[in-house]
Amino acid sequence: MVSVSSFDAARGGQRVRESSASRATTSPLPTDVQAPVGAKRRFTSRIYLPALSIVAAAVVLITIGWLSRWGGGSFTSAMTNLRIVVVGPATLAFLALFLVVERLRPAQRRPVFARGYRHDLLYTILNATLVAPLVVALSLSFSEVARRSLPWIVVPRMGVLPHWGVIAVIFVAMDGCNWLAHYANHRIRMLWRFHELHHSQEDMSVLTVFRTHPLIHVSYLITLIPGVILLSNGTIPTAFLVAYAAVVAFEHSNTNLGFGPLGKIFVSPNYHRIHHRLEGRQDINLGFALTIWDQMSHRAIFPTPDTIRMDTGLPGRPLLVEQATQHPQHVRVMMAQLVGPFRRLDPETDQAMPE
Ligand SMILES: [Zn+2]
Ligand SMILES: [Zn+2]
Repeated sequence: MVSVSSFDAARGGQRVRESSASRATTSPLPTDVQAPVGAKRRFTSRIYLPALSIVAAAVVLITIGWLSRWGGGSFTSAMTNLRIVVVGPATLAFLALFLVVERLRPAQRRPVFARGYRHDLLYTILNATLVAPLVVALSLSFSEVARRSLPWIVVPRMGVLPHWGVIAVIFVAMDGCNWLAHYANHRIRMLWRFHELHHSQEDMSVLTVFRTHPLIHVSYLITLIPGVILLSNGTIPTAFLVAYAAVVAFEHSNTNLGFGPLGKIFVSPNYHRIHHRLEGRQDINLGFALTIWDQMSHRAIFPTPDTIRMDTGLPGRPLLVEQATQHPQHVRVMMAQLVGPFRRLDPETDQAMPE
């Protein structure tokens, strides 16, 4: 059931269009309203302060993790594992395969080097280099905090549960947590400011999975809880995480594929593209690997021939996108996208305040 009072990304986009029209007929704010008094007011008038809370959470977590020597875990081996998942040989092979598949069976026909593809390649490189250590630090720190503050959540070893059973339970619970975090990204305005970067892609491809703000990973740390709970019973193999990451990457591909009857259970490219649609609500089809969470919350919209080639992106382009500039300016656009969540919203339009 959709709450009318809560934040709705798609509705926000609608407001953008409506208020853009109304702004054209109204005079700007009086100078005395626009001009802040004092340095503090100048700062708060330009910064979206709630966005700083995610920075504070990351700093506090990482400080705790660092002081506790990452809970006794090895930062280096965790880093190696994450690198294998993000850009290991198997992941790169999957990505290469999916890039070929989306050329053979495209949902939308596009040039091989479309601007959106080149831009998401930059995000891929950013994730493999600078973001990976951040995610490792956050993950080790969060697990340590969870183990220390809630030691009772770690259930004792259950001999009856085979290892594959542990993997299955963690997979389903982890996917459910991903759904919850994604739901929060769409319903809480502060989180949406970070998540809208992912939705701003107008030329989706498998690499769009990497088009995320580095700090949004803070909101997905709850996905580690199932692993902490079942820690004594086994862990998920890295190969399984590679497969999970490949599934999530593939659903972003520009491939016309719905998985047939299996598409009712597993998230397909045609299903996830509806989540990125330009027109209409985007707080639907939030699932990562399984569609059951969307179905249980009445948020599942299954693909039809009309939805396969639909445009993606954000109405009114509230965030600068690479397709908007006359000539490609990937680095400048990327910088604008990364600072975007910290720019104060215009109360009239919900868009970032102009410089
Ligand atoms: Zn989303
Ligand atoms: Zn997506």
